[in-house]
Order: sequence, then structure tokens, then C-alpha cells
Amino acid sequence: MVGQAVRDGRLIPQPCEKCGASPTHAHHDDYSKPLDVRWLCPVHHAEHHHAAIDSPEIVAALGFSLTQDEATVPG
Ligand SMILES: [Zn+2]
Ligand SMILES: [Zn+2]
Repeated sequence: MVGQAVRDGRLIPQPCEKCGASPTHAHHDDYSKPLDVRWLCPVHHAEHHHAAIDSPEIVAALGFSLTQDEATVPG
């Protein structure tokens, strides 16, 4: 959904709101508002979800591109 919105130009990917890194993930605080996202780099995205930095989750997250919808990421 986010990936489609990015391709359509409805969502413009932004640098990480915490550190300015890119590429970023589109993080949803509220999935009922699919276009209401926060842009977080993989590290800060995982941190936001309270994942350990060396957990399989963050390792997996580092492989994701911003064109993938967050729905593919657990949590
Ligand atoms: Zn960051
Ligand atoms: Zn998230």
C-alpha cells in the first residue's frame, strides 16, 4: 500500500526523522490511516518497535527497501 502510494507520488519518502539516514521505512502509528506515516531508517524503525539491535528482526529489516509495505514486517 505504501509502495503503491510512493509510486503514485502520494507519499514522498523522507530521511529518517531521528538521524536523517536513508533509505527509510514508512512506519504506521495508525494502520487505519495508511498514508499517515513516519519515516524511520531500519535501525530507528526497529528501535521504535523495541527490537534488540542484533535480533533477527532488525537483521531482516535491514534488507527491506522503502518500496515494501510495512505490513510485511512483523509488528
Ligand atoms: Zn535513523
Ligand atoms: Zn513500524
